[in-house]
Amino acid sequence: AKSQGKQRYSLFNNELLNNNLRRYKLENHLKRAIEKNELHLVYQPKVAFADSKVDCAEVLLRWQHTKLGAISPVEFIPIAEQSHLIVDIGNWVLESVCKQIVEWKQHYQLDRVSVNVSPQQLAHMDFISSLEHILRRTGCQPAWLEIEQTEGWMMENPDDNIAVFKRLKALGVRLSLDDFGVAYSSLSQIARLPLDVLKIDKSFVEYCEVGSREHMIVRTVIQLGRNLKLQTVAEGVETEAQRQILDAEGCDMYQGYLFSKPVDGKTFVTMLEKKPQA
Ligand code: C2E
Ligand code: CA
Ligand code: CA
Ligand code: CA
Repeated sequence: AKSQGKQRYSLFNNELLNNNLRRYKLENHLKRAIEKNELHLVYQPKVAFADSKVDCAEVLLRWQHTKLGAISPVEFIPIAEQSHLIVDIGNWVLESVCKQIVEWKQHYQLDRVSVNVSPQQLAHMDFISSLEHILRRTGCQPAWLEIEQTEGWMMENPDDNIAVFKRLKALGVRLSLDDFGVAYSSLSQIARLPLDVLKIDKSFVEYCEVGSREHMIVRTVIQLGRNLKLQTVAEGVETEAQRQILDAEGCDMYQGYLFSKPVDGKTFVTMLEKKPQA
C-alpha cells in the first residue's frame, strides 16, 4: 500500500510538471507565433431567423503550431492573457479582421463581423487609441465591427468597465455581451451598459428542449433583450429542435454547427450574397 501511495504521488507530480512544461513552452512559442505566421482567423456565420440570410460572422483565432499542431484558443488565450501577449495578439486580430472586412465589403453584402476582446486588452490604457488607429489605417468603419465581451468581465469592475464601453459606443462600434446568463450579473449593472446585442450562452441552448428549465431561461433572456431593445443571438445551435424553439421565442440570430462550423475566409464568403456590380 505504501509503495502504491508513493507511485500515485509521483504520477501526480509528473502530471503537474508536464502541465507546467507545456504551459511554459506554449508561452515561449506564442511570443513568436505572429512573426512565424502561425496565427490565422476563421469565421463562423450568423444566420438571421427572419430570412435565413448570412450577412454577419464571428471571427475566431486559430494557432497552428509547426510541431505541436492545432492548439485550441481555450488553451492558449488564457496563457496569452496572463503573460500580456494578448495585447499584441489582440491588435493583430483587430488589424487583420478590419483589413478583411474592408476587402469583403467591396464585393459582398456583409454587414459586420464580431471580434472577441479579452478583459486584459480592454483594460489596457491604449486600447481605444490603438483601435482608432487600426480603423483609420484600414479604412474600416466602426459600425462594421462588433466587440464581444463576456458579462463576467463587466461585473469585476463595473464603473471602469462601463466607462470603456461608453467610449467604444461613442466611437460607433457595436457592443455585444457574450456568454450571457452564466455569470450571475446583476440586472442593474446590465442596464447601465450601452449594449447592442445579448448573446445567449451555448450551455442554455445545449439543453434547450420544449418545456425545460433551459427553455424558460432562453425565453426570459430573449424577452429581456426585446424589452431593452437589444438584438439577441444564440450560440452553439446544433439541432433543428433547438433552432425551432429559438425561432418560436423570437430570437434574432443564431450561430452554430447546425448551420456551419467556423470556416476559413474563402469558404465564408461563399455564404454571402454578392454585391450587384456597377
Ligand atoms: P466564444 O467566444 O464563446 O466562442 C464560441 C465557441 O463555440 C468557439 O470555440 C466556436 O468554435 C464554438 N462553437 C460554435 N458553434 C458551436 C456549436 O454548435 N457547438 C459547440 N459545441 N461549439 C460551437 P473556439 O473557436 O474554440 O473558441 C473558444 C473561445 O476562445 C471563445 O469562446 C473565446 O472566448 C476565445 N477566443 C477565440 N478567438 C479569440 C480571439 O480572437 N480573442 C480572444 N480574446 N478570445 C478568443
Ligand atoms: Ca464570442
Ligand atoms: Ca460565446
Ligand atoms: Ca463561450
